[in-house]
Amino acid sequence: MAKLINAILDLVFPISCVICGREKTWLCPACAGAVVLRPFRSCPECLKVSTGGAACGSCRTDSPLSGLTAAAPYSDPAVRKLICGLKYGRARSALPAVVALLRRSNVSSRLPPADLIIPVPLHRVKKHLRGFNQTELIAAEFAGDLGLPVSVGNLARRKKTEPQAKLRDEERSKNLRDAFQIVNRGEIDGKRVILVDDVFTSGWTMREAARVLREAGASEVWGLAVAYG
Ligand SMILES: [Zn+2]
Ligand SMILES: [Zn+2]
Repeated sequence: MAKLINAILDLVFPISCVICGREKTWLCPACAGAVVLRPFRSCPECLKVSTGGAACGSCRTDSPLSGLTAAAPYSDPAVRKLICGLKYGRARSALPAVVALLRRSNVSSRLPPADLIIPVPLHRVKKHLRGFNQTELIAAEFAGDLGLPVSVGNLARRKKTEPQAKLRDEERSKNLRDAFQIVNRGEIDGKRVILVDDVFTSGWTMREAARVLREAGASEVWGLAVAYG
């Protein structure tokens, strides 16, 4: 079924390079180097400039995230188109171009040593409707670069949440409270975790997931996102 839907999508909305429009590719070889990478170099908590995206001195003790690595700003139209392409039904074909951004940005060199990669989960109903979780696909594809195992299903989404962007500040933390749970604490306890998401915007989701991981005993949680903003 998914194959048929993709074939129809390809006919109705042919894939084309997000920069020059050349057909049948998300990012043609000639344009691959043209996407401007501006790695995230701020504290993920207060957004003050920091070295390599590490949490700053004043946020370090309270933030569940020790830092964030991300390749490019989401405000860049090419980056946004690639990530939207990945999210809305064209996963397999857009995935290599998205992961190539991480590779070109050399994020592996900016991440600290870790034990485990965990993608931010989608609620199972949402995953079922979409047919996949794009963040899981990114994590699986990139895991080899980091030489780390990926854990899927242990960090689970317990309830459906409203998109954070639609909510006011005070509603956001309430919306996410109890959104995540850990199925098997033994796998997390004492481990250094890389938490993966496609985009880091307000950071609420990633921080809440990191908080639950720290509660389960993770010794450190670093975020990895393709885009931020
Ligand atoms: Zn092109
Ligand atoms: Zn800070």
